[in-house]
Amino acid sequence: MKVDIIVCAAGKGERAQLGRNKLLAPLYGAPVLYHTLGAFAGVGDIVIAAAADDMEEIGAIASPFGAKVVAGGATRTQSVYNALQHCDGDIVLIHDGARPYVTRQVIDGCIGSVKQFRSGICAVQCTDTVALCDDGVISEVPERRRAFAVQTPQGFYLNEIKGAYAQAMASGLSFTDDSSVYARYVGRPHLCAGDRANVKLTFRSDFERGLPPLPAVAGQAAGIGTDVHAFGKQQDYITLCGVKIACDSGLVAHSDGDVAVHAVMDALLSAAGLKDIGHYFPDSDERYAGADSMELLAEVMRLVSAAGYAPVNLSLTIQAEKPRLAKYIDRMRARLADATGVAVERVGIAAGTCERLGFVGQGLGIAATACVLMRKDNG
Ligand code: MG
Repeated sequence: MKVDIIVCAAGKGERAQLGRNKLLAPLYGAPVLYHTLGAFAGVGDIVIAAAADDMEEIGAIASPFGAKVVAGGATRTQSVYNALQHCDGDIVLIHDGARPYVTRQVIDGCIGSVKQFRSGICAVQCTDTVALCDDGVISEVPERRRAFAVQTPQGFYLNEIKGAYAQAMASGLSFTDDSSVYARYVGRPHLCAGDRANVKLTFRSDFERGLPPLPAVAGQAAGIGTDVHAFGKQQDYITLCGVKIACDSGLVAHSDGDVAVHAVMDALLSAAGLKDIGHYFPDSDERYAGADSMELLAEVMRLVSAAGYAPVNLSLTIQAEKPRLAKYIDRMRARLADATGVAVERVGIAAGTCERLGFVGQGLGIAATACVLMRKDNG
């Protein structure tokens, strides 16, 4: 099912008193809106409702995410209505641009709730007692266990919420969120798990106090690894990423000499803050004589996942004057994807010569460099 995301960014954010749209204010080196969009990257197509004055600036922030920017309206209801006309998915999630702390777990839960209950309204139970007041006097105190603070995203089937918003527009009424529109014209919205960290940046003080690190920043780590092996083994093949490749000489090594996998292993270990492969698989240890490097890679995957990390993408460069590698690249990618759990389209392998320069260029050996991006769970 195709999911679209509407991000509301057309407000003036007057309560923040920043003199401009608070979503354009910096948070950890980038505008608030940038982080919000980042949280939804890869979930679906993004449509941003923006005010005319902010169109250009928001367009620049939206561009790396391939998000569409459309004209908002005078009210939130009008803005969401406008944005809904640009959606074409099955499910739509509507989200406040001022909630950059939303996590993938909350987003996935919201989508799951739509599939199961036709709507998903992220919310957390109130810890404060809530009072309904008129003219400064408490008129009603709902039971606290029944009181929830409603957040976003709020998810719906597109046709249902689009119909509801058309009726809301025709009625001339204004609503502060989407669950109220759904409740009035479709049915009782279903709650799903929000997150106490998924706060809406509203007041100036929200920007001034020490904000928690963003999940996307806190939870990522990059790593790099390199390796070199020399030709000279009497053997008619080499092994790269577990793939046997015909060659007039093998690579000299204690293990099977899979220079590419060795670079990948060091990148993974390095990103996870662990020691290098020489520490875990010393070449003084007879157990690793002639070892299958793909088995060592499986062990490295166990080590990094025990440290809480999972690779998100993997990039590898191999420099070799011989043999020609082009026709083996797809098989090598598939092996690496399989061994690391990274989707094959997120594994990149480049192979090149060294223009006859240096030891690679003279055909004396092969060099490999790997780079990995890791996600830290519960980071
Ligand atoms: Mg090596």
